[in-house]
Amino acid sequence: MAESEKSGGWAMAGIGLGIGVVLGLCLAPPSQPSQPTNPSLRTLDANLWLQTSGEFRALCLQTYRMAGERLKELRKEPARDGKKDAVVMDLDETVLDNSPFQTSLFRDGTVYSDERWGAWESGHPEEVRAVPGAVEFIAAAEKDGATVHYITNRKEGSRKPTIAALKHLGISIEGIDARLHLMKNKERDKEERRQAVRAKYRMVMLVGDTLSDFSSEFTPAKADAGDPKALQDAINERNAKVEKLRRDRWGAEWIVIPNSSYGEWTRMAGNDPLKVMNPTTLKP
Ligand SMILES: [Mg+2]
Repeated sequence: MAESEKSGGWAMAGIGLGIGVVLGLCLAPPSQPSQPTNPSLRTLDANLWLQTSGEFRALCLQTYRMAGERLKELRKEPARDGKKDAVVMDLDETVLDNSPFQTSLFRDGTVYSDERWGAWESGHPEEVRAVPGAVEFIAAAEKDGATVHYITNRKEGSRKPTIAALKHLGISIEGIDARLHLMKNKERDKEERRQAVRAKYRMVMLVGDTLSDFSSEFTPAKADAGDPKALQDAINERNAKVEKLRRDRWGAEWIVIPNSSYGEWTRMAGNDPLKVMNPTTLKP
């Protein structure tokens, strides 16, 4: 083939390609403006599991049923010092189901803030739901003679709406002021409040959805969300305490209610979840 024919062929091919590109651009659907990602997307399935799954309900009913049976066992022998028996319960996501609050975060494309939680806590007690089995467990414990105390990190200023939420769910509020231990002076640690209950009662059972509802020893070590090594160390340390140090407590005196939506554990999940997930050698 002559040199001129070759260059002519390349020229034709170039023109053809150019027309193809132009046609392609003309026929392509107009590009959509990119949608900002909803910051609550990360917890969407966790919230759906809590709000819609029968499995969550069954798990709560199972836990509260076993807690009730265990409580009767623990109370068979009266306290030697004559103290009355107390059951200490957390409120949010242990007794009170605040999942509509999580709905609001997803609907509005935002994340938790103290201001928004404050508005929920103080202004919407009638929208709070009950964790399955909690109301019945409390009623049975009280009928059996135990005193139920609530140690919660709801603020002292929210005492009235918190009592309103309990009342709305049909939970007894008799003598509630002495039994409702809210957060004072932004002190989140519950140990002092547990000690105050222990001073007057035999504390036979603790019920909560986050490990600090049971003991301050589980409070996660502070780790930088961008430091995977520190995050993994904090996760390992906390899990070792759960699995070894306090293994005998779970289901015996300490009753845990599942909460996939939020909790201290999320502090250790970090910015890049893949860095703290269990590794695998599986290739695509
Ligand atoms: Mg809670």
